[in-house]
Amino acid sequence: MTNILVTGGAGYIGSHACKSLRAAGYTPVTYDNLCTGWKEAVKFGPFEQGDLRDADRLAEVFAKHQPSAVMHFAALSQVGESMRNPGIYWDNNVSGSATLLQAAVDAGCLDIVFSSTCATYGDQDNVVLDEDCAQHPINAYGASKRAIEDMLENFEAAYGMRSVIFRYFNVAGADPEAEVGEFHQPETHLIPLVLDAVDGKRDALTIFGTDYDTPDGTCIRDYVHVMDLVGAHVLGLKWLEDKRGSRVFNLGTGSGFTVREVIDHARDVTGREVPVTEGERRPGDCTKLVSGSTRAKAELGWEPARSTLGEMIADAWRWHQTGHYDK
Ligand code: UDP
Repeated sequence: MTNILVTGGAGYIGSHACKSLRAAGYTPVTYDNLCTGWKEAVKFGPFEQGDLRDADRLAEVFAKHQPSAVMHFAALSQVGESMRNPGIYWDNNVSGSATLLQAAVDAGCLDIVFSSTCATYGDQDNVVLDEDCAQHPINAYGASKRAIEDMLENFEAAYGMRSVIFRYFNVAGADPEAEVGEFHQPETHLIPLVLDAVDGKRDALTIFGTDYDTPDGTCIRDYVHVMDLVGAHVLGLKWLEDKRGSRVFNLGTGSGFTVREVIDHARDVTGREVPVTEGERRPGDCTKLVSGSTRAKAELGWEPARSTLGEMIADAWRWHQTGHYDK
């Protein structure tokens, strides 16, 4: 079977990607330092513990597993934290990626699927966010991901590395079979926090800002189901296998929901009230991030199948009630 090196395979999106890769006939080899991931989430292939910045360890893992491609998820990914502590984003995400790409080149592994973000676009009023849109990130997380996109271009020019870059909008939901799910410690993402508030694991959900220029004053995001998102990665891998060259794809549905709309849907799905308080804006947050692109559908044949807000919250709720990981 073909091995794929999955950095961050013990994390939320990486673990779901491993499940999809296994279902598609690949062997996902997880490379993860467990700084935010969970060993228990590694269920679909071998686990190699290691840090992105550790060149020797990476060389050893490439030599042992001879992967045909890399799926690179491992990253720090919290907007708020990136504004308070940008250095760790440049160190872990950017330096770590440079070490990883060099190790891949040295091992002769030149195909990479990279997990980027719509945060690279920044706050752009009345602009359709498609892949050709200018990138002006307003937080250090987005800046670190944009830097890695630039790095991939440089590695292509120098070594012929080919990349499929996915710019994610807001990933949500969980494996419907609840084998893996979203579990961050601490949790910072909206939907799991809403569910924590629903079942009393926290007192209330704080809405970060109610004075944005949107219909109800709260930020708008484009939510995409994690299973749909990782399905696109398998298509991206096949794209590279078919030698179709480097390409950037947005992954979003094109529909935006405000924070208050997410809360309303959570109340409908769970049948319970969501305790809410209104707070200050969170530094680094864009007003509206909604994909305006149909490229993934047109070129990869990607069709989101579970990405309604109701289904995403229902799958997240199922996982929330049954699943968790212990270190
Ligand atoms: N949000 C919120 N309260 C929270 C967490 C998030 O109001 O406790 C808002 C946040 O300001 C943003 C949206 O929910 O508008 C999605 O935030 P999340 O952190 O889930 O994802 P991001 O958009 O930062 O990738």
